[in-house]
Amino acid sequence: MASHMSVLPGTGWAGDVANTLTPVAHDTNQVAALAMQAATVRELDACISVCRACSRLVSWREHIATTKRAAFAHQQYWGRPVSGFGPDDATIAILGLAPAAHGGNRTGRVFTGDSSGDWLYASLHRVGLANQATSITADDGMQLHRTRVLAAVRCAPPQNKPTIQERDRCAPWLHAELQAIRPSLRVVVVLGAFAWQATFRSLAAIGVRDGPTRRPRFGHGAQVACGPITVLGSYHPSQRNTSTHRLTHQMLDDVLAHAALLGSAPHFELPGG
Ligand code: SF4
Repeated sequence: MASHMSVLPGTGWAGDVANTLTPVAHDTNQVAALAMQAATVRELDACISVCRACSRLVSWREHIATTKRAAFAHQQYWGRPVSGFGPDDATIAILGLAPAAHGGNRTGRVFTGDSSGDWLYASLHRVGLANQATSITADDGMQLHRTRVLAAVRCAPPQNKPTIQERDRCAPWLHAELQAIRPSLRVVVVLGAFAWQATFRSLAAIGVRDGPTRRPRFGHGAQVACGPITVLGSYHPSQRNTSTHRLTHQMLDDVLAHAALLGSAPHFELPGG
């Protein structure tokens, strides 16, 4: 039993919506079934946060939570899958690749506690989508306005690279989450090429019509209309991209400000669209 290596559900970690009764997915079929069954975003978040379907990623996330990084040696690590963060009636979704080993996997909140998150939340704050500029821990008071941040794969993978099988196994959680917030969703900001592919697969899976017939190329500033939802591409605020100035604060601010504008427009969707 490896559960002691990660935070036990329902033991008071800020933002933990799971408890000991939350059903646990142990394989691909159970992920798909539970993702379909979740009636609310909160239920979905809970199920995601206890998922154990990918043995390699479960081992890795719990290994990291046990061995830790020296700077965080005194802290308890979350060590569980990281669900989305933000209101369930968000008009803007921001999609990354996967939690960072010592970021989301440590703090339990997506993009929180590492340099990518520092960049993302500071920019969200500058464009008016967050109440504060720093996202440090799950209980730091961060609130997003109209915005939900999530990842295509919910467990921290070795070398930040999930396998194709892991990506596909986790996809039903993403489909279900986008479907659940779809009534309000106007724009998806996609951070990086991996999440770009995942987004279009997911929008197709949930039947968003009027998307491009061919998958459009990822690029910073790319903009694609999928019916009532606009997909915007941004380089990922990874340390590699920010330290080389491939992505600057201004570039990220520009994309998120554009998203804020699109996300404030009224929502029109034809029935069944
Ligand atoms: Fe479950 Fe996704 Fe984590 Fe795999 S990556 S264990 S499917 S939450």
